[in-house]
Amino acid sequence: MEATGGDGKAPGGPRVLVVGGGIAGLGAAQRLCGHPAFPHLRVLDARPVPGRSRIRSERGFGGVVEVGAHWIHGPSRGNPVFQLAAEYGLLGEKALSEENQLVETGGHVGLPCVSYASSGVRVSLQLVAEMATLFYGLIDQSREFLQAAETPAPSVGQYLKEAIRRHVAGWTEDEETRKLKLAVLSAFFNLECCVSGTHSLDLVALAPFGEYTVLPGLDCTFAEGYQGLTNCMVASLPEDTLVFEKPVKTIHWNGAFQEAAFPGETFPVSVECEDGDRFPAHHVIVTVPLGFLKEHLDTFFDPPLPAEKAEAIRKVGFGTNNKIFLEFEEPFWEPDCQLIQLVWEDTSPLEDPTLTLRDAWFRKLIDFVVLPAFGSVHVLCGFIAGLESEFMETLSDEEVLLCLTQVLRRVTGNPRLPAPKSVLRSRWHSAPYTRGSYSYVAVGSTGDDLDLLAQPLPADGTDAQLQVLFAGEATHRTFYSTTHGALLSGWREADRLLGLWAPQAQQPRPRL
Ligand SMILES: Cc1cc2nc3c(=O)[nH]c(=O)nc-3n(C[C@H](O)[C@H](O)[C@H](O)COP(=O)(O)OP(=O)(O)OC[C@H]3O[C@@H](n4cnc5c(N)ncnc54)[C@H](O)[C@@H]3O)c2cc1C
Repeated sequence: MEATGGDGKAPGGPRVLVVGGGIAGLGAAQRLCGHPAFPHLRVLDARPVPGRSRIRSERGFGGVVEVGAHWIHGPSRGNPVFQLAAEYGLLGEKALSEENQLVETGGHVGLPCVSYASSGVRVSLQLVAEMATLFYGLIDQSREFLQAAETPAPSVGQYLKEAIRRHVAGWTEDEETRKLKLAVLSAFFNLECCVSGTHSLDLVALAPFGEYTVLPGLDCTFAEGYQGLTNCMVASLPEDTLVFEKPVKTIHWNGAFQEAAFPGETFPVSVECEDGDRFPAHHVIVTVPLGFLKEHLDTFFDPPLPAEKAEAIRKVGFGTNNKIFLEFEEPFWEPDCQLIQLVWEDTSPLEDPTLTLRDAWFRKLIDFVVLPAFGSVHVLCGFIAGLESEFMETLSDEEVLLCLTQVLRRVTGNPRLPAPKSVLRSRWHSAPYTRGSYSYVAVGSTGDDLDLLAQPLPADGTDAQLQVLFAGEATHRTFYSTTHGALLSGWREADRLLGLWAPQAQQPRPRL
C-alpha cells in the first residue's frame, strides 16, 4: 500500500525518526512498525547498547538489580506496562493474581519492619504507624486542591508543614516523644521526596498534585529484571530499526532539506548527530528525558522552540532519586524483614537542615528495601533523593561504603557490624543523556505545562504538519514519572502520526 496523507510529498511513505530508545521511544516504534504506512522507521539512541535507558537492569551480586525503574506502579488492567509484561510472560503468579490487581495502596509506601533511630535504639513501630497515618492522611488531603480556586500554600511541603504545626500544638506527650515523632515525620518527608523525585516537597506544586493518578494494584517487580520488557520490545522490531551510539546534537526543523541519498525529495526535518551524520525525516518523535532537554534547550532545536514551550521545559520539575545497593555476607536483619527505616532524631520537617552536604548527605537516605536473597548473597537497596543524592554521586564507592557502614553501625547500636562487602549505585544526575531521574510538577507549573511539552511542532499547522512530536514520561499529564506514563506517551505520538497518514486504519495492538 502506498502511503498518502501528511503533506503528500513522501513517495514510498514518510521517513520517521524516533530520538531515544527508552520505553517511550520503543513503544512508539512498535506501534508504527506494525503498520504498512510507515516502512521507513529508525530509532536513534545515544547509548552504546539497548537497555541503558531509565529501565536498566544490571547483573550484580549474583542476581539482577534495577538501577532505574524498580516496580510496576499500579499493576492492574489499566496499566499498559503490566499488560505488556503479562503478555510477554515476564510476571510471576502473585503479580498476575486478581487479588494483587485489586489492592488499593493510594500510592503510599508500606510500613517498615524495623525503624532504627540515630542513637542506636529502635523506634516503636506503633509510633511509626501513627506518624504514617498522619503523614499519608495529609498527603491525601494535599491531592484535593485540583479544582480549588485558591490553595492554602503554593507547595505540598508548605501545606504539610502548616498542617503538622497545627497537629504538634495538640500533642500532649513529653518533649522527647514529640521530637521523635517529628523525626519520624522527617523520614516520611524524605521518602516522599524520593517518590516525587525532588529535592524538597517545597518545590512540588500543591494545586496540580492531585492530578497524578494512582492505579490499583500492589506494586510488583520483574524477577528477571525490568529490562526483560524493553529487551522483548527491541526484539520485536526489524533488525536495523535501532541505531545505537548515535547521540543527536540538533534537530533542524521547519526547513526544506535535501539529501544526496534521496534525490528529488525534500524533508522538513534534518536530524544532526554528534558524529556529524545527518538523518532526513518527515517526522521526528523526541523522547529524550526532560533533564537532557533542560540542559540542551539552547542548541537542541533549530529554529529554537516557541517561547511558551521552552518556558514549559524550564518550569516543569526534574529531580534526582538514586539507589545505593549494599551487599552483605550475612544479613543483620530478621529473615522476614522487607523494609528498614532510618530516623535521624535531631531532624524535624519544621526546621531547615543546617549541616553541609558533605557532613550530612546520608541523612537524606530513606529506607533500605531488602532484596530477595540471591543464593547466599544478601542485598539492601537504599533510596536517596535531591541535592544530597547528587552530592553522593560525586563521592567514590569507598567513601559511600565507609560512610554507610558508619551509619549502619550507629543506628543498629552495633559498632562491630561487618561492613558491606560491596556497593553499587546509580548516578542519574551525572548521566549525560538523562541528567536526573524523573519529572514532577514544580511550583510555578501546572498540568497544562506537561500538555504543552507534548504539543507537536509546528504549533500553527501552516507548514508541513507534525514535524517534531514529543513523548517521554514528562509529557504524560497524569502518569508522569512512571514507565506506564512513558509507554502511553509513545503510543500517543505514534497514534498521532497514524491519524495523519492512515486515519482510516484500525489502531493495531503492539506486535508481540
Ligand atoms: C532511579 C529510578 C527509579 C525509578 N523507579 C520507577 C518505578 O519503580 N516505576 C516506574 O514506573 N518508573 C520508575 N522510574 C521512572 C521510569 O524509569 C521512567 O519514567 C521511564 O523509564 C522513562 O522512559 P522514557 O522512554 O520516557 O525515557 P528514558 O528511559 O530515559 O529514554 C530516553 C532515551 O533517550 C536517549 N537519549 C537522550 N538524549 C539523547 C540524544 N541526544 N540522542 C539520542 N538519544 C538520546 C537516552 O539514551 C534514553 O535511552 C524510575 C526512574 C529512576 C531513574
